[in-house]
Amino acid sequence: MKAVVYEGPRSVSVKNVPDARIERPTDVLVRITTTNICGSDLHMYEGRTDFETGRTFGHENLGEVIEVGQGVDKIKVGEMVCLPFNVACGFCKNCERGYTNYCLTAQPDPHLAGAAYGFADMGPYQGGQAELLRVPWGDFNCLRLGEDARERQTDYVMLSDIFPTGYHATEMAGVRPGDSVAIMGAGPVGLMAAYSSVLKGAGKVMVVDRHADRLALAERIGCLPINDATENPVERILDETMGLGADRGCECVGYQAHDPQGNEHPDDTLNKLVRSVRFTGGIGVVGVFIPQDPGSPDPLEKQGKVALDYGMHWFKGQTMGSGQCPVKRYNRQLRDLVAAGKAKPSFVVSHELPLDEAPNGYEHFDRRDNGWTKVVLHPGAA
Ligand SMILES: [Zn+2]
Ligand SMILES: [Zn+2]
Repeated sequence: MKAVVYEGPRSVSVKNVPDARIERPTDVLVRITTTNICGSDLHMYEGRTDFETGRTFGHENLGEVIEVGQGVDKIKVGEMVCLPFNVACGFCKNCERGYTNYCLTAQPDPHLAGAAYGFADMGPYQGGQAELLRVPWGDFNCLRLGEDARERQTDYVMLSDIFPTGYHATEMAGVRPGDSVAIMGAGPVGLMAAYSSVLKGAGKVMVVDRHADRLALAERIGCLPINDATENPVERILDETMGLGADRGCECVGYQAHDPQGNEHPDDTLNKLVRSVRFTGGIGVVGVFIPQDPGSPDPLEKQGKVALDYGMHWFKGQTMGSGQCPVKRYNRQLRDLVAAGKAKPSFVVSHELPLDEAPNGYEHFDRRDNGWTKVVLHPGAA
């Protein structure tokens, strides 16, 4: 089968690799029809993780079931399914409590928790930027889609990661109807956090970024765009909230946060939220931070440390939630919003490319080229 293979920093190629296949009775085999390039793929693409060369990326996957193992009861051949990026067993201590993002069975390292397709340090699972994907514990992990799935793949594929992840940021922040919300980052996840806030009935959603194309999308869904290259976002958010600060904040950038000149400051977005979220407000952090980052120019960040304004955070009595999203906690309900026509997360998609053009898609998306807001790949398309 054809697959996107990581060759080294800023290099991927589309190659023939051995076909994914059923390996255990509980596996499901999916022919991938839609798979996204994600911002977290870029951390790996840029060589900032220990992702192995020769492995395949791709954790935002949707496709048609073409084979099921003997122990699969629910999922049937021919069904369209969307796969949470988390690979989870469903029966471990964390999965039982709904924390499929920290599955203990799918992660082979006993000192770690959580697994994903095509992801550094998250188990041996191949990614879905390929013609075929093996889905372990298929009954638990496959989200079945309705008859409209073939026509609306670019909406439904967002249930694999960015839509639930953006929603999770708003849940950890505690967004409720009427709230003012400050969102750092208008990449695909930031836009989904903004969209989720809008869907929840937030009163005012302020989205901070510096890319015109992303800010335009934020505005299109009814949010207030704030360009941090031309104004101080903390002052603006305070101005917009009578000096009190936003009720809720969402961090959707992560450890490679940088100033408009390109210098990385891993603490930048977190501290901007500490300053611009009100006393007793909530902050949800879904941007990626990692335990160590030897390639960072920042001496603290090399050891995974961030100079958080903890004193101010404590003084203001803020709460902060963090970590990857347990996609299964939200994906059914969000699917039903899509099915009912009440959510259309495909508004972030700028490019749909055949799998062969993945290297080109990575290059543009990695450079944040204007207009490349979200790249969707279609294996099997000409
Ligand atoms: Zn993703
Ligand atoms: Zn588990």
